[in-house]
Amino acid sequence: MIPYGRQDISAEDIDAVTEVLRSDWLTQGQAGPRFEQAMAAYCGSRSAIAVANATAALHIACLALDLGPGDTLWTSPNTFVASANCARYCGAGVDFVDIDPRTYNMSVSALAEKLEVAGSRGGLPKIVVPVHFAGQSCEMREIRALADRYGFRIVEDASHAVGGEYLGHKVGSCGYGDTTIFSFHPVKIITTGEGGMALTNDPKLAERLSYLRTHGIIRPAQPPEDPSEPRVNEERNGPWIYEQIELGLNYRMTDIQSALGTSQLARLDPFVARRRELAARYDRLLAKLPLTCPWQHPDTNSAWHLYVIRLHRNEIKLSRRQVFDALRAAGIGVNVHYIPVHTQPYYRKLGFETGMFPEAESYYEDAITLPLFSRMTNDEQDTVIAALEKILA
Ligand SMILES: *Cc1c(COP(=O)(O)O)cnc(C)c1O
Repeated sequence: MIPYGRQDISAEDIDAVTEVLRSDWLTQGQAGPRFEQAMAAYCGSRSAIAVANATAALHIACLALDLGPGDTLWTSPNTFVASANCARYCGAGVDFVDIDPRTYNMSVSALAEKLEVAGSRGGLPKIVVPVHFAGQSCEMREIRALADRYGFRIVEDASHAVGGEYLGHKVGSCGYGDTTIFSFHPVKIITTGEGGMALTNDPKLAERLSYLRTHGIIRPAQPPEDPSEPRVNEERNGPWIYEQIELGLNYRMTDIQSALGTSQLARLDPFVARRRELAARYDRLLAKLPLTCPWQHPDTNSAWHLYVIRLHRNEIKLSRRQVFDALRAAGIGVNVHYIPVHTQPYYRKLGFETGMFPEAESYYEDAITLPLFSRMTNDEQDTVIAALEKILA
C-alpha cells in the first residue's frame, strides 16, 4: 500500500534522539528551548512554545486569549475536530464559517457577511481560527482587516502549513494573527512523534502560554533583600520557590521529542521542496482527467501537507465511494479530508445540521486525498496516476 502520508526519519534524527536518551535530561532540559529558538528563527517570530501536541497548543492559546463560558470561537468546518474542540475545553461555544470553493479554506466573504449579521444582532466571536487547509495559508491580510474592525483575536491553525509561505513570509511569522499553531504528528510536514507548538510575537501572550503549559506555575523573580526582615526574606527568596498563579496543565514536550524536532527542522526546506515538486507533477499529469486539482491563491506558497482532488461526478459513472474503494483495492492509500466538523455526532448534539455549510458539504462529497509525502518516488506517484486513469476511464 502506498500511504497517503508518511514520516521521513534519517540516521541523524535517530542520533539526535539517542543522544538525549544518554543525557541527564529527558524533559525540561535544554533540547526544548533549542527547538523553540530554532523554529522561531526559521519562521521569523519572536517566541515559540513547544507542547505535547497541536490540540494542547490550541487549548492553551484559547485560555491565554481569555476564551471562556459565554464566548464563541469561529472556525472552518473543513478541518480536523481539534480546531473546534479547543473552544469547548474552555466552556465556550463554537460556530463555523463556510469555505471558499476554490481554496477549501475559510471564505473571507462568508466571514465578512457572518460578522456583519453577528455585529448587528450581538454574538460576535472572541476568537477566529483560520485553518490553513492542506498547507495553503488563508487570506490573512483580509482576515486581519476584519479582526481590526470587529475586535476578535486570531489563532491560525497551521497544523498543515509548517514551511509554507504567505505574502513572502513564513507561516508562523505571526504578522496577521495573535498566535500560530503547528502540529508535529507523523503525517504532518515534520514530526516529533506527537508534538505541537504555538508561535507569537506578543511577549505577554508568550509568557502566559508558557506557564499555562506547565500547571500555571512561574518561578518569581527574587525580591530584593530587606535587611530589616532577614527571616521573612529567607523564606520568600528560597531557590525552591515556585508560584502557581492560575490553573494550567501539563502540556510539555519532552526533550526526546524536541531533539527530534530540531533535527527534522534542518530538513524542512527539502521536505517542502519535494512536496511542491510532487504536487506540480500531479497537477501536470492529472490535467486531462475528470477532476479538479487544488487551486492555489497567488498570495500563498503552500507547504503541501495534502493533495486533494475533487471528482467531477457528473462526468464519471462512479460514485466517490466507488473511486475510493477501487484506489484502495489497487494499493493506493487514499483518504478523505475532512468530514465537515458540524456534521459530527457531538456537534449535531449542539444543534448543528447538514445543510448549514453547503460549500464544505459539497466539497466533502467529491474530495479524495491522494498520497503525498517527501519520500514518495516518481514511480510511486506514477502508480497512483495510472490507477486513477484506469478507474476514471
Ligand atoms: C493534525 C491537526 C490538528 C491536531 O494536531 P495534533 O498534534 O494531533 O493534536 C489540529 N488541526 C488540524 C487542522 C490538524 O490537521
